[in-house]
Amino acid sequence: MKNTQLPTVELHSFAPAKPEYGAHCNGCGVCCALEPCPVAHVFLFQIKGKCRALLWQDDANRYVCGMVVCPDRYVRLIPHALRERSGRFFASRIAAGAGCDFAAELDDMPESTPSTASGTNRPCA
Ligand code: SF4
Ligand code: SF4
Repeated sequence: MKNTQLPTVELHSFAPAKPEYGAHCNGCGVCCALEPCPVAHVFLFQIKGKCRALLWQDDANRYVCGMVVCPDRYVRLIPHALRERSGRFFASRIAAGAGCDFAAELDDMPESTPSTASGTNRPCA
């Protein structure tokens, strides 16, 4: 029986396809579009829905974590001068560079509909 409780995934139309679990992260954005990670829970107070720090980068045609690239945009207590240092901290918290740690496949999610949803596309200033 079809599970109608699964969420719709909204992704940029140029987003790459999700790779295999454990493969190099290509910035497809699927994981963060489905649910916020612990960093978002603790620092963004977001526990469900598409993470508001999921950032599309036009020049790279991929998503990145806004908490790594420009955390001061999302957390007002972080001064601009500490952007890079804070970004390195958050990169370590989300295990950036460790490969895709999201096991679900889009085929497992019948309601998944890649779209031209813009998300948070404003580049970091
Ligand atoms: S904080 Fe970053 S890694 Fe975590 S869900 Fe949001 S965009 Fe993804
Ligand atoms: S961890 Fe996996 S699902 Fe998440 S953005 Fe990277 S490749 Fe996509």
